[in-house]
Amino acid sequence: MARSSLYRERQVSDLLPPLRDVIARHGLSASKALGQNFLFDEQLLARIAATPGDLKNRAVLEVGPGPGGLTRALLRAGARVTAIEMDRRCMPALAELATAFPGQLRVVEGDALTIDHNALMGEPYAVVANLPYNVGTALLVRWLGGEAWPPQWTSLTLMFQQEVAQRIVAQPDTPAYGRLAVLAQWRSTARLAMKVHRSAFTPPPKVMSAIVHLEPAAMPEGVPAGMLERLTAAAFGQRRKMLRQSLKSVAGALEALEVAKIDPQRRAETLSVAEFCAVVRHLSRLAR
Ligand code: SAM
Repeated sequence: MARSSLYRERQVSDLLPPLRDVIARHGLSASKALGQNFLFDEQLLARIAATPGDLKNRAVLEVGPGPGGLTRALLRAGARVTAIEMDRRCMPALAELATAFPGQLRVVEGDALTIDHNALMGEPYAVVANLPYNVGTALLVRWLGGEAWPPQWTSLTLMFQQEVAQRIVAQPDTPAYGRLAVLAQWRSTARLAMKVHRSAFTPPPKVMSAIVHLEPAAMPEGVPAGMLERLTAAAFGQRRKMLRQSLKSVAGALEALEVAKIDPQRRAETLSVAEFCAVVRHLSRLAR
C-alpha cells in the first residue's frame, strides 16, 4: 500500500470516537429482543475482519452492524460494505461511519431474514457478521441451501454461540454431529476460526461464542440439495433410532441405503457426509 494512503487510513480511523462514546451519544442501550451484544475490542474486531483474507476493494455483506464496531474494522480493511440493520436507533451512528469512509459503506435498514441478499449485492460478496443469536442459524441454513452452486457469496465469517459453532464443524460419531454439520460440510469447507470469550461482549451473553469460517467447495455430482435436506431432517429427527426406522417416512430411502451398501441398523450420527451424499445420489436415481 502506498505510504500516503496508509497514512490517510490511519488518520481516518484515529478520528473515530471510541465505540462506547458512540453508544452513549446515540442512546444505544442493548436490546435483548434484537439479540444485541456489542463488541468494543478493536483488536478482536480487526482479527475477525482479517479472517476472510484481504478485503481491499471487496464487496462485503454485514448483517447486524449495530453501532458499527465490526463495520469499522471491515472499512479499515478496505472493504466496500453493505450493512443490513434492523434497529433504526443505529442509523445516525452508521451514517457518521459512512461519512468517515466516503463511498465505502451502504446501510440498509431492514430485516436480513426477508431481504434478497444476492439481488442487494449484485456481485460476488463475502459475508462477515456478528450475528444476532436468534437469527444466526436461520440465515446460515438459507446461505447454505438452494440448488445453484457455487453461491454468489464467496465466504461466510460468522459469530455463533460456541455450541452452535461446534455443531457446524462437527465430525461423525460425536455428540455435536447432526443436520447442521452435513449441510455445512457437503459442499463447503467449515472451520472454527477463533473462540470469543463471553466477557468480550457488552452486555456479556450467558454462553461462550466462536467465529466459524465457511467457503464453497466443489458440489458432489448427482446430489440434489433439497433431497439431502429432507433425508438429513428425517435421519437426525430420530437420531437415537436405527436408519431403517428413522428413514421409513422417506420413499425409496431404505432401497437407496441397500444400493449404497450402508447397514440400515446404523444410526444417522455414524454416517459420514460422503455416505449421506451417496444415499441421496441413489435415492435421486431411483426417483427418476
Ligand atoms: N455488529 C455489532 C457488534 O459486533 O458489536 C452488533 C452485533 S449484535 C450481536 C446483533 C445486531 O443485529 C444488532 O445490532 C441487532 O439490532 C441486529 N439484528 C437483529 N436481528 C436482525 C435482523 N433480522 N436483521 C438485521 N439486523 C438484525
